[in-house]
Amino acid sequence: MTNDEWFARARAVIPGGVDSPVRSFASVGGVPYTVARGEGAYVEDVEGTRYLDYVQSYGASLVGHAHPEVVAALARAAAGGSTFGAPTPGEVLLAEAMTEAVAGLEQVRLVSSGTEAAMSAVRLARGATGRDRVVKFDGCYHGHSDALLVAGGSGVAQLGLPGSAGVTAGAVGDTLVAPYNEVPTLDESVACVLVEPVACNMNLVAPAPGFLEGLRAECDRVGALLVFDEVITGFRLARGGAEEHFGVTPDLWCFGKVIGGGLPVGAFGGRRDTLSALAPEGPVYQAGTLSGNPLATAAGLQVLSMVETRDLAGLAARVATLARAIEAAVADAGLFCRVPTVGALAGIYLAAEEFATPTNADQVRPLATNGLYPRFFHGMLERGVALAPGAYEILFTSLAHTDADLARTAEAAGDVARSLRP
Ligand SMILES: *Cc1c(COP(=O)(O)O)cnc(C)c1O
Repeated sequence: MTNDEWFARARAVIPGGVDSPVRSFASVGGVPYTVARGEGAYVEDVEGTRYLDYVQSYGASLVGHAHPEVVAALARAAAGGSTFGAPTPGEVLLAEAMTEAVAGLEQVRLVSSGTEAAMSAVRLARGATGRDRVVKFDGCYHGHSDALLVAGGSGVAQLGLPGSAGVTAGAVGDTLVAPYNEVPTLDESVACVLVEPVACNMNLVAPAPGFLEGLRAECDRVGALLVFDEVITGFRLARGGAEEHFGVTPDLWCFGKVIGGGLPVGAFGGRRDTLSALAPEGPVYQAGTLSGNPLATAAGLQVLSMVETRDLAGLAARVATLARAIEAAVADAGLFCRVPTVGALAGIYLAAEEFATPTNADQVRPLATNGLYPRFFHGMLERGVALAPGAYEILFTSLAHTDADLARTAEAAGDVARSLRP
């Protein structure tokens, strides 16, 4: 069966044919390729076409698809039963690995998605402070829980929804939205400030020097908790995440993606005294049938045990080389392009005239909607390079991407840019 045939069947029984809107080609046009299998840096669709994959499950895959050691860990875990409703060693080992890697992180509660992690962290922050208000930043995404689904970046932004239908005014009434890279003035009604330490859901926007430090100081001034949503940055920017990279310590952390090794895992955590507000020790309720699931913790633990900060630093250096090569190749073709990077994270902006690298969502929006990205995306796809099907996403380069893969990517970008030149 072809991609078209699979997608027609999908649309008959799944709304829009996708289980997460970012997977649809709504903002780039056309029919998505349906993935049959993945291996390392590559995915193969149901028609047998192979793509060099920069989607990598939006960052859930760090070591590449179907890594043999992850597959083996999963097989071992599955043979022993996949869920029990009782404590298991796997969740202890994953929590130990995380708290060892991240300075100041003393305890984590495992959940099954980044959405749950952020939602639960906010509930904990409210419960622990006795305050209602949450501050988030325009263009940052923290999952799709009601209170956080406002000015949400990627999936929300590219579909043109301001928040979402079905979210009541009451649900977001205590959510305040500030522009990224500006430290808001807080007061004592604020329970927490939730931030992506590197914004990765409005294309890539790096924190300006002093931004994260400023948030830390402003939170301290009014007794609010600073929450780093490290669902993307955690164990990708460095083993110790954003704190290791930027030297700013939050009160609460949210994790997801990488820590599940390709299976559904999220986590939120912080100091022991803060986490003790959670049930069963404290009054803040939070639960999950599949939380700390043995398969998911086995995969996550395997990945965390394989990846050292020096591997991530090596990847970051290679991504920086890729970024400069893409910029040069596109500039040679007569278009303007910026590929900002932070560690191994990279964004890509294209325009027909010179522009400055965006520092907030208002600056990203005109670039994301200038019509170039959909054409660039399809040009790359035709050349066997799969980028995310939306201009608000970033490039996820896995540890399985080789130097030859990266060189081929920059070459393809130059080719595509030449074909787009007016
Ligand atoms: C992906 C993401 C989430 C949501 O995680 P899910 O597992 O999709 O629920 C939350 N925060 C950030 C920063 C993300 O990138």
